[in-house]
Amino acid sequence: MDFSSYFLHVKALLNQFGYKNSMKRFYILKLLYETKDFLDADEIQLLLKKIYNEKISLSSVYKELNILRNLNLLSTLQIEEQKQKYKIDTTFKKEYLICLKCNKVIELDSNSLRQSAKQVSSSKGFELLDYKLSLYGYCEDCSKECEDE
Ligand SMILES: [Zn+2]
Repeated sequence: MDFSSYFLHVKALLNQFGYKNSMKRFYILKLLYETKDFLDADEIQLLLKKIYNEKISLSSVYKELNILRNLNLLSTLQIEEQKQKYKIDTTFKKEYLICLKCNKVIELDSNSLRQSAKQVSSSKGFELLDYKLSLYGYCEDCSKECEDE
């Protein structure tokens, strides 16, 4: 997916949640989309200036990052107590329910699971970059079948 088609997708999502179009948000997304790496707010501010000649205050950068994170468009990485790094998340879903009987795969999009994975990792001094989680069991149809038998 190129950035313009990705951004169309995001724009629809932002509009749905009542956010107006913002050039700051556009450039922050573009930067994160093109770098595809974890960046902190300072790095984002610097790169916006360097690459697009966009001067955006640090508080605006934080404000936009919060909006984007709340919409699950970014994954975050805690680097210090008060400091996080942000990376574009174009996949949205990383958790799956897998049925052992019919092999159906159901995608989950759970923020709390994501947060737990980060917390567990950081408690072991582990820097989490990515993860996949598969939960095994029986889907609704299969567990009904089991009951009927
Ligand atoms: Zn099943």
